[in-house]
Amino acid sequence: MTTGSNLVDGQWVPSASGATFRSVDPAHPTEVLGVFPDSTAQDVAAAVDALEKAAPEWAATPPERRARILERAADALEARADQLITELIREEGKSRAEATTEVSRTPMNLRFYAAEALRSGGSTYPAAGQTMVYTVREPVGIVGAITPWNFPLNIPSRKLGPALAAGNVVLFKPSEVTPLMGQRLVEALLAGGLPPTAIALVQGGGGAGAAVAADDRVTAVTFTGSTDVGAAIHAGVGPQRRVQLEMGGKNPTVVLGDADLDFAATTIVKGAFGLSGQACTGTSRVVVVDEIHDALVKAVVAKASALRLGPGIDDGATMGPLASAAQLAKYREYVSIGVAEGALRHDVDIPVPESDGYFAAPVVFTDTTPDMRIVREEIFGPVLAFQRARDVDDALRIANDTRFGMSAAVITADLGRAMAFAAASKTGLVKVNQPTTGMAMNAPFGGYKASSTQTFKEQAGSSMMQFYQAEKTIYLTPAG
Ligand code: NAD
Repeated sequence: MTTGSNLVDGQWVPSASGATFRSVDPAHPTEVLGVFPDSTAQDVAAAVDALEKAAPEWAATPPERRARILERAADALEARADQLITELIREEGKSRAEATTEVSRTPMNLRFYAAEALRSGGSTYPAAGQTMVYTVREPVGIVGAITPWNFPLNIPSRKLGPALAAGNVVLFKPSEVTPLMGQRLVEALLAGGLPPTAIALVQGGGGAGAAVAADDRVTAVTFTGSTDVGAAIHAGVGPQRRVQLEMGGKNPTVVLGDADLDFAATTIVKGAFGLSGQACTGTSRVVVVDEIHDALVKAVVAKASALRLGPGIDDGATMGPLASAAQLAKYREYVSIGVAEGALRHDVDIPVPESDGYFAAPVVFTDTTPDMRIVREEIFGPVLAFQRARDVDDALRIANDTRFGMSAAVITADLGRAMAFAAASKTGLVKVNQPTTGMAMNAPFGGYKASSTQTFKEQAGSSMMQFYQAEKTIYLTPAG
């Protein structure tokens, strides 16, 4: 069992109150994995006091050195990869293949942002006479990073990496479901040579997160999590501070009449039930034209029945448990809601381990109507709602009929229709003949509508550096 700590002013410390919380293995919830500080506003204030003092020195650290530190942190993660895979499986519940992917992507993110430390400069502009007009990009100050449990290494690395590369100090509040992964990422940064005062780690739940967002000295708040919490954070951050929110989705995969059914079903099952349905880009709706509706439902249910539900630590398992008791309760609630709303429930017939683990078999609903909650609300579990469309135009209208705008996919061999869909989709991500899940680390990533803030929405690629840098314009003219 791990006894975790906060990192405040370069020291590993308990919470000021001494209070703690526990992390458990979602495949065996009676097994306590770790005990971590349950932090309050007092811990957050102490962390911000120390970060304020440390900020000038880190901002003045040459970009080559900042880059080198991030590269060495990536090396440190890779050196510990086997341990991290096991710990990630046990803390969050991923399958081994899913955990291996996340652990290999995280150092790649740090390397990508190491290069941005050297690349993200200002510009010069044409100007009259001897005047030179140019911009410099400066760190914004103290970045508060509040993150979810579903990618507990990968998502924070896409916040801490660019924040530190740009010369900001960071206050990091990981999810209370995956505190160890948060601590491991900070340990890797320190192993890479990051001055321990340039980062603070504050463990705890929503109260600690709210305190991070509420502190006016935290000049930029970057958050990934649920839409309701994001909205509360946004409402509390005034006009003088930056805020970036990545939130929920209700992502459709649209299947057109010419689609290969086997390929479509494989793609849908991967998008809907990968990560046990717990991805912000996960497929939660299938919009399919009438003529292939019934055959596609059959193919998806058959394909999903090849999944093997079990603890990720067992190599045979392709689908792990849900991450928490709250996740399991939410899944069960929405399955009941779907039945009560009159949708037709199709169970995927796979063995569910007989244990107290948070295991949830995939459920498919058909005969839905557009106003049903299972069609409109993010469930964040392995529950998939089918929606019938008359034709291509109807399918596009149904796909866009949601307050969310994270990701959408279309399955078709017709290039013209695929391109028309990409142009008309009201989502930040469009996938053609791919699952709604999955993203390139070097391309922009962020949702439309209620899925993101529409300022600073990018969460990957070079353009996200803009959130972490303030641009100043300088007019330089010789005297006289
Ligand atoms: P959550 O909103 O419950 O928690 C996210 C983080 O916010 C946690 O660290 C939590 O402790 C903290 N928090 C909770 N209440 C807070 C408050 N009042 N003020 C400040 N911080 C607070 O989300 P979750 O259950 O951890 O993650 C699942 C959600 O995350 C889903 O809605 C999913 O769609 C979303 N998500 C989005 C993306 C994306 O890129 N759009 C990626 C992954 C997950």
